[in-house]
Amino acid sequence: MTLYPWQIAQWNNIRWAVEQNRLSHALLLTGPEGMGKSHFAQALVTSLLCQSRGENLQACGECKSCQLYRSDSHPDFFKIAPEEPGKQIGVDAVRALGKFVALKPQQSIHKCILVEDTHMMNSNAANAFLKTLEEPNNNTHLILVTNQPAKLLATIKSRCQMIQFAPDLSETSQQWVEQELVRLNIVNCDAEQLLRMSSGAPLQAIKYAQDGTQLQIDALSRSLSELSQNQTSAGHAAEKWLKISTESDFFVLDWYYRIIHSQLLTVTSGRENISFTVSDEMSQIMSKIPIKGLFHFLDEIEKSKRAWFTQVNQRLLLEGLFLRWQNL
Ligand SMILES: [Zn+2]
Repeated sequence: MTLYPWQIAQWNNIRWAVEQNRLSHALLLTGPEGMGKSHFAQALVTSLLCQSRGENLQACGECKSCQLYRSDSHPDFFKIAPEEPGKQIGVDAVRALGKFVALKPQQSIHKCILVEDTHMMNSNAANAFLKTLEEPNNNTHLILVTNQPAKLLATIKSRCQMIQFAPDLSETSQQWVEQELVRLNIVNCDAEQLLRMSSGAPLQAIKYAQDGTQLQIDALSRSLSELSQNQTSAGHAAEKWLKISTESDFFVLDWYYRIIHSQLLTVTSGRENISFTVSDEMSQIMSKIPIKGLFHFLDEIEKSKRAWFTQVNQRLLLEGLFLRWQNL
């Protein structure tokens, strides 16, 4: 498995620890969504299980162990993950781990346990899992993955060595996004802007390109500037954006918030906001609005987000927000 270019330092640290025989029995991979943590975790699992891994700690991809892993039937590998995205991990999933931990490795030197979305364990599951963590077993590696470490029990975190995948806005990541756009034949998207929109998470950046988010944000910026210049009515704009913000999410409010928030960060810090840049036109429009007004408007958007999924009429809510925007 090839690692992503922004993951090399983390891999080298682990390689060093393995070479020194000092790899912690439990690793916690943290960082925002879109950094490829699961991919990294799988590369590590295959490597730890592989019977003839290469110098760079890379799994050979050919041995019995690598084949078993690929066919999802490695006896020394156990994975815990939510049954469906967004679903909690219950205690049953963790109880099943007990038997696995008691077994001797059958194929490889080590056994590996991978926990995806560790923060989704409910409290019973987390407490049951803690028992496994508290009884380190020399031949078992635990690899935990999460994008919300704050939600984990402190007692779980304290027993793991943290491997962080910080947002990466470097040239390397930007080049990777550019190459992916070419490979996927996606045009009309800007790698740098995508990477900023995703706050430096390259896989998320690609997702934004694939699902059309970037194009929609450009369109939202245009709508907002048209509203400011009275080239469209609040009612018309609300109608349009309600179709895009489906009942299941509030795309327009989220990005409306980020556009204004970004401007405020830029204005108050005196330098360009690295996590998201608004178009020059929007920036000019917002520069004429008093800062106090923009802060107040952020609160308005927050309130609207809270009201969005209540019995409120979403069209009127959005229209009201656009009207206030026009009159700022
Ligand atoms: Zn192998």
